[in-house]
Amino acid sequence: MSGIRIVTEPALYLVGRQEVVPGEVARFLDDHGASGWDTDAPSAGEGLVEIAGRLCYLSFRSPRPGGNAAYIGHIKEVKHGSVLEHAVFNLIVTGISRSCSHELVRHRVGLSPSQLSQRYVDESDVAFVVPPALLPEVTAARDFIGHDGPDGGNHAWFVLDVVSEWDDEARPGDGVVAGLRWLAGREADLEEYGRHVEYLASRIAAGDRTARRKAAREAARSALPNCTETKIFLTMNARAARHFIELRASAHADAEIRRLAVAIQAVLAGVAPNLFGDYRPVTLPDGSTALETDHAGV
Ligand SMILES: Cc1cc2nc3c(=O)[nH]c(=O)nc-3n(C[C@H](O)[C@H](O)[C@H](O)COP(=O)(O)OP(=O)(O)OC[C@H]3O[C@@H](n4cnc5c(N)ncnc54)[C@H](O)[C@@H]3O)c2cc1C
Repeated sequence: MSGIRIVTEPALYLVGRQEVVPGEVARFLDDHGASGWDTDAPSAGEGLVEIAGRLCYLSFRSPRPGGNAAYIGHIKEVKHGSVLEHAVFNLIVTGISRSCSHELVRHRVGLSPSQLSQRYVDESDVAFVVPPALLPEVTAARDFIGHDGPDGGNHAWFVLDVVSEWDDEARPGDGVVAGLRWLAGREADLEEYGRHVEYLASRIAAGDRTARRKAAREAARSALPNCTETKIFLTMNARAARHFIELRASAHADAEIRRLAVAIQAVLAGVAPNLFGDYRPVTLPDGSTALETDHAGV
């Protein structure tokens, strides 16, 4: 196998969500002549959205039928989106590229990121995210290296060199060669990065060891490509998450961030179905998935 680490899909960890404080809700209800109101919200976030919405109209005493699902459904219909901002979720996302994270952090409102630092963290063993469109080629190239590579040929650049000498009939197909080129490019990037860190760490004199290494890495990262893997902690409210899903799980979005947006919707719909369960999958011509909803722009 090729000597670099590659990632083929993101991993999501829902590490935090909210908690309702029942005693305080009851105290508020008692103080406002609405004792006994309750909700069947599947999650705290959905319950808090309902409480916020009901507070606007002091409607705790006259709940409509249908419970929390109907309540949030109505909020989506009338686009009273600000109350959705009271539901908050904390996610860690790994296995996305720096180009994907760059698009992600463009979402300025209600979506707070904390991202792995390329200045403090050594990237000499960093993984690379295969763009979805190149996945078949890179997979084929990795299989080729694993099964047919010459002895010692565990580096794509080496295999590429060797197969270029082979006769036309023996040479692997264009797809394998494209995959080998992609892998060989990333091997070269990583090697360059390592060389720059080593050189700069010895050349930079100012500061203590940590400061020197940070200065070396911040310059050396210029050798790393857009597909370098990153990790990011995201806190987002439900309204911002819906806006993100609508823009980025759309057929027009970049394939990698679309895959991420589809995965985020699945995680959030799993814990908060009344907030996120209205999206339906649509299969695009390339076989990938986009999402649609009748309640966009809440
Ligand atoms: C398919 C696609 C292609 C794209 N292509 C490009 C591209 O080529 N180049 C590029 O630079 N970006 C591109 N983007 C990114 C896009 O321009 C937005 O920066 C990104 O989608 C975040 O959207 P947003 O501003 O609505 O979100 P947020 O920043 O989260 O803002 C949410 C909403 O708040 C309001 N808002 C936020 N800030 C302001 C403000 N300053 N003034 C007034 N209202 C505000 C707006 O209503 C906005 O929709 C693309 C996005 C998509 C989905």
